[in-house]
Amino acid sequence: MTNLSGKTALVTGASRGIGRASALALARLGAQVLVHYGRGRAEAEAVVTEIRNSGGRAQAIAADLAAPEGPHALAKEVRAIVGERLDILVSNAGISRPGIIEETTLADFDDLFAVNVRAPFFLVQQLLPILKSGSSIVLVSSLAAHASVGHLSAYAATKGAIDTLVRHLAAALGERGIRVNAVAPGVVETDMSSFARTDAGRDFALGMQALKRIAQPDDIGDVVAFLGSDQARWINGDSVRVDGGSKL
Ligand code: NAD
Repeated sequence: MTNLSGKTALVTGASRGIGRASALALARLGAQVLVHYGRGRAEAEAVVTEIRNSGGRAQAIAADLAAPEGPHALAKEVRAIVGERLDILVSNAGISRPGIIEETTLADFDDLFAVNVRAPFFLVQQLLPILKSGSSIVLVSSLAAHASVGHLSAYAATKGAIDTLVRHLAAALGERGIRVNAVAPGVVETDMSSFARTDAGRDFALGMQALKRIAQPDDIGDVVAFLGSDQARWINGDSVRVDGGSKL
């Protein structure tokens, strides 16, 4: 049995969707979880309450990761809470701005890269002093990084950057005993992919998947928790497809 008791974890964007499911999965395995949120304070507090009601330890923590100093501020707060050791960092917070190439604005492009790439990079940088040997970093990539799905070229480029970061961070941090991986979900029914709640969206998603149901956040959260655990101790530098067999 995987056991994360005694371990500390930070999950960004944990107020809802895949981040929430990841926080709950880590807490189920015994980790103390810092539930980061941007704007959804009430939702984040609800996640904390759910974890505490099941006997776990959790705390909500706010930071705007679109702001240049957001990751630095978050890392400072995390260090004030957990002290000298963070075992699991799940950098999940992200945004998507679907749109055809002609309609994508400079602001869209910059916002996407700020939240989806700059923030994870500097969060890792700022937390490095407390990520020790045995720690695990899990980033969130996407099916869109390696397959053309929908009108997502700018968003997809941010996830391609995450796949690149995974390999370079893993190579750089391996000698410190820190593992770095990503999960690459396909379509998951969350607020970000709310189209999956429509008939047309559902048909689109199922049309490219081998398994014929729409993924739920828990389908991803369980894999995130696994990658964070010592059970995954020999998985490193990989973006693990968690997409029910999409675009095979
Ligand atoms: P979601 O929109 O439900 O959740 C995103 C989370 O990120 C929210 O908690 C939100 O508050 C947080 N966030 C966004 N901008 C922020 C900011 N500026 N500061 C702080 N927090 C911020 O989406 P989701 O589907 O749960 O997405 C989670 C991750 O999974 C993202 O990185 C996304 O790109 C990735 N992903 C999602 C899907 C999908 O189909 N849903 C597929 C592949 C990858």
